Amino acid sequence: MTGNAIEIRGLRKVYPAQGAEPPKVALEGLDLTIPEGSIFGLLGPNGAGKSTTINIMAGLTVKTAGTVRIWGFDQDENPRQSRAAIGVVPQEINLDAFFTPRASLEVQAGLYGVPKRHRRTDEILARVGLADKADAYARQLSGGMRRRLLIAKALVHNPPVLVLDEPTAGVDIELRRMLWEYVRELNASGTTIILTTHYLEEAEAMCDRIGIINAGKLIADEPTPDLIARMDRKALLITPARPVMQVPSAPEGVDVTLRPDGRLAYSYHRTRTPAGAILEAVRAAGISIQDVATEEPHLEDVFVELTRSRPAA
Ligand code: ADP
Repeated sequence: MTGNAIEIRGLRKVYPAQGAEPPKVALEGLDLTIPEGSIFGLLGPNGAGKSTTINIMAGLTVKTAGTVRIWGFDQDENPRQSRAAIGVVPQEINLDAFFTPRASLEVQAGLYGVPKRHRRTDEILARVGLADKADAYARQLSGGMRRRLLIAKALVHNPPVLVLDEPTAGVDIELRRMLWEYVRELNASGTTIILTTHYLEEAEAMCDRIGIINAGKLIADEPTPDLIARMDRKALLITPARPVMQVPSAPEGVDVTLRPDGRLAYSYHRTRTPAGAILEAVRAAGISIQDVATEEPHLEDVFVELTRSRPAA
């Protein structure tokens, strides 16, 4: 092992032409390294190539070119070991309504060739909080239970790498918290986690490292705090001593808005505009300042900025 759970080099995927549709280049020479033990967030807009990347890692989609190593196993040289090293929790809830959770896990274990004596069906069910539903039919399970069952299915062969594709899409806040907690527990017990998400807040809260894919290319890959720090935009929040009725003019390159709470929010590039220039402009507008605070950028801003600055190929 190299200390990396995943090593992808020059990954290319072209979906063949379909009828009038021309061939579609989904990945254009993607390089991606995911360190062992991390919770890695794979972000990107719709159609960026996230699912294609995951499906190739999982051995569900055939790549056009490039190399993929999973847990040190080259997918072409050691297809069996590389497949055994990864578990994928799909986006779609796709469960056989007539299987009980216990039966689902047994069937899945059979598919992965896990011998009976090595199966941990009850342990896994207990771990995802489904022990008391082990023999219920899938159609009697709530949405949250079904999602947990999907995670359980991905764990039957005890993979060191677990991929969750949009794990909390359409999930209520309580279940989202529960899933986050569970994913953190799995990670703490040694599983490398890769998750795709549209919820940037989720990536910020969960991931120690974030990769952003846009138009089949990786446009960012760094520790979460660095990505946020690299973001140049910042907000200066001014609480006026007396309510302001009109938004004052701001220095060039600075956007100012009046927030519902009465504060003036100045959004500026910290490398381009000194905060002092903003304060001066506020005073020049005849506003006396009661309080000043700053606001760090959210991943949402980083994402918008990055995808804006590098146009789609
Ligand atoms: P994401 O998961 O980031 O939304 P995808 O990997 O699903 O992106 O898609 C990447 C690109 O490949 C998109 O332009 C999509 O339309 C195209 N694509 C995905 N799957 C297929 C397919 N089976 N056949 C043809 N084109 C596809």
